[in-house]
Amino acid sequence: MTEASPAELLEGPFTALADAVSTGRVTARAVAEESLARARKAQEAFGAFLSTNAEETLREADGVDRRVRTGERLPLAGVPLAVKDNINVAGRPSTAGSKILAGFVSPDHATCVARLVNAGAVVVGKTNCDEFGMGSSNENSAYGPVRNPWNPARVPGGSSGGSAAAVAARAVPLAIGTDTGGSVRQPASFCGLVGWKPTYGRVSRYGLIAFASSFDQAGALTRSVDEAARAFAVMAGADPKDSTALATPVPDVLAALLAGAGGRRIGLLAEASSAEGGLHADVKASFEEAAKTLRAAGAAVTMVSVPRVALAVPVYYLTATAEASSNLARFDGVRYGARKGDVSLAALYRETRSQGFGPEVKRRILLGTFALSAGYHDAYYGRAQKVRALLARDFTAAFRDVDAILCPTSPEPAFALGAKTDDPLAMYLADVFTVPASLAGIPAVSVPSGFSRDGLPIGMQFIGPGDSEPLLFALARVLEDASGALARRAPGAVS
Ligand code: GLN
Repeated sequence: MTEASPAELLEGPFTALADAVSTGRVTARAVAEESLARARKAQEAFGAFLSTNAEETLREADGVDRRVRTGERLPLAGVPLAVKDNINVAGRPSTAGSKILAGFVSPDHATCVARLVNAGAVVVGKTNCDEFGMGSSNENSAYGPVRNPWNPARVPGGSSGGSAAAVAARAVPLAIGTDTGGSVRQPASFCGLVGWKPTYGRVSRYGLIAFASSFDQAGALTRSVDEAARAFAVMAGADPKDSTALATPVPDVLAALLAGAGGRRIGLLAEASSAEGGLHADVKASFEEAAKTLRAAGAAVTMVSVPRVALAVPVYYLTATAEASSNLARFDGVRYGARKGDVSLAALYRETRSQGFGPEVKRRILLGTFALSAGYHDAYYGRAQKVRALLARDFTAAFRDVDAILCPTSPEPAFALGAKTDDPLAMYLADVFTVPASLAGIPAVSVPSGFSRDGLPIGMQFIGPGDSEPLLFALARVLEDASGALARRAPGAVS
């Protein structure tokens, strides 16, 4: 039996790594040591991590090695895992990228973390993110921005930018994030990774720090579709701790992974070309290339219209901010949050919240409070809720004609740091292709489809009806194979 090198294993798929740990060719501890060293480098180079705890990580790795020795079969044996800092990991800090949660230590695991750890994954660290998941560039973190390992002058996307950078830099093969309106899929596309958001309720929200509860879902970032599907298979499932978690059987994503696109009806999103601000030329070219690939693979590719996609950004930014204004009310310095000031109750709230929250979070709370306030509720929140329902109906109608919809994940590749920080509206508009699936509660998978002329990754997104994850992963495999993206390594990858 030949020994396997942790460094080599971290360059390959985590299935090979878990196999090496399971067969005793390498220990989970040796892999964890290598991953911790890489995490430190990814932190220095890109600001990917907010906290690590080497002692704790090695203790967990030893635990996995013990379980392997007793003969337990663990699908993720020794797989290093990075967790976005708005997802709870027992005994570790959860700041959600906010000053207001500085010093908070999670009492227990989020359900999705518990499932991954139970399957043998080892937590290497908590990753940087936009404050409370609010952002599309990871420039809204109270702890500094994250940089893109493909080009450090570019953003990694957001809000799960640290998770994306950690995987693209090859510090870990698996990271998890939350996706409220695209925060797993868009950073995956900016960093050349696969990222998925499940059908609403398929992955428990227990242990996620709430942003907008009717949208929030956990998802994973990996280099390959195969690993993406395996992460789904572990994370998905019913949970008595989340009343919105689905109790229906989890669709089998692994059985159908190699099903291909033959005979499938794929709709190219007609609204993609008319998106406000337009499509970047390289993204447009990659979209057309993807359509050709799917046709060549035997799919029937047509155009499909989801008319209210054009209204998705305003509807999302009204309803998600309304939910956020309510969810974030708990950070008052009494129940949660570092208390500031000791005078009257009003002053306590004012000081705690004005010092604790960053500018984007304040903007969202103001927007959401306004949308919900008496006199405006019907005009804004009420109307937005109605359009949300109509958008979901548009999707239902489209899925009578096609099995899945294809569109770019983002209208442009990773933009420069600072490019949109002075223009919140431009930042919001960048979410035009990711928020529709979130509003409708349906699953979507972003997969690398190619590269821009200046070497930045481009991602395409498959959107399908509820519980269509097996189909979406199989279709993503087809584009993955054709793009050759899996063979490319980010120039900033650490080793
Ligand atoms: N970019 C979107 C926003 O800022 C989505 C964020 C998310 O999915 N958490 O709200």
